[in-house]
Amino acid sequence: MRPSPLHHALATVQFSRPGSDFFQSLRNSVHAYFESNKISQTGDYRLYIKTLFFCLSGLAIYISLLTVAMPWWVALILAGTLGLFQAFIGFNVMHDACHGSYSSKHKINNFLALSMNVLGSDAFMWKQKHNLVHHTYTNIDGIDDDIQKAPLIRMAPSQPKFWAHRFQFIYVVPLYAVSSFFWILLKDFQEYFSVKKYAVKVDKMSTMEHVTFWVSKSLYMFFYIVLPILVWGWLPWFIGFLTMHITLGLTLSLVFQLAHVVENVEFHDARDKEHTLVETEWAIHQLKTTSDFAVDNKFVSWFLGGLNFQVEHHLFPRISHVHYPAIQKIVKETCEKYGVEYHSYKNTRLAMASHFRHLYNLGRK
Ligand SMILES: [Zn+2]
Repeated sequence: MRPSPLHHALATVQFSRPGSDFFQSLRNSVHAYFESNKISQTGDYRLYIKTLFFCLSGLAIYISLLTVAMPWWVALILAGTLGLFQAFIGFNVMHDACHGSYSSKHKINNFLALSMNVLGSDAFMWKQKHNLVHHTYTNIDGIDDDIQKAPLIRMAPSQPKFWAHRFQFIYVVPLYAVSSFFWILLKDFQEYFSVKKYAVKVDKMSTMEHVTFWVSKSLYMFFYIVLPILVWGWLPWFIGFLTMHITLGLTLSLVFQLAHVVENVEFHDARDKEHTLVETEWAIHQLKTTSDFAVDNKFVSWFLGGLNFQVEHHLFPRISHVHYPAIQKIVKETCEKYGVEYHSYKNTRLAMASHFRHLYNLGRK
């Protein structure tokens, strides 16, 4: 979705040269694909199967952890697997639903967006931070919250460099591992109480959203903390809870980083600047700041909910990820036709290596 004028109300960034032939032609080709195949842009049976599979598996693992007697090491493996399935629910169900691309019906999108609350965070807060801020101002330092991890991690060249950053390519791994633990138990509350100010205009929480935040946080505390402690006791619960968050945090962080914090993308600097003009139109900016990976790998594509098709997702966030493999071919062809660079790593290993090399280089240069 292209940014609406509303999102620019407080923004200090403007994109130049709007409406080029490139993006118009790309949009026409993508729309023609859906029309000629007579299919909807939202999710279909493939997405419903995934939703059932991931949600029911997650639920089954959770229930067996609380009701079936098992050796500690089996419980530990299951706790780790639960974290992994939570990440898959996030990639496949929550992400599409929060973008409104899961279904053509708002109610279904809004309902399934609440899977974010089941995972421990908050759908409304995520939509502001992700849909409005990150998707519009991708990799613009000072605005895009996804690359603001300073001073702990230096992700963009415009961020200040400290001595310890030379080791960041190593210590990001434990940081990623505890990221969801702190996100759900600490960061959400900090942002809620400080009413986090983004550099761009975001929506205010309604009374209903305040209620949803508190009800779902209370339910999370009950189902993930109180109940397991009653069943397992303090220490086994803590080890299991931490294990679940380690797999969740590592999977979420690494997958999201491979799209924007790698060597083949650009970063822009809007730190401490009143006004920044990005010398490209919004669509080209998305192509310059985003990379695909492993687009030919059906296994990766199925589990990651199209997050390996981030270029297509950033250009067409209102299209469900189940269509991205087809859209990717159109994007690639149109980019070649118009001489626009399209970034993609052949496989996950190359994208991962590039992420860590990027952090290594930014820690030293
Ligand atoms: Zn998104």
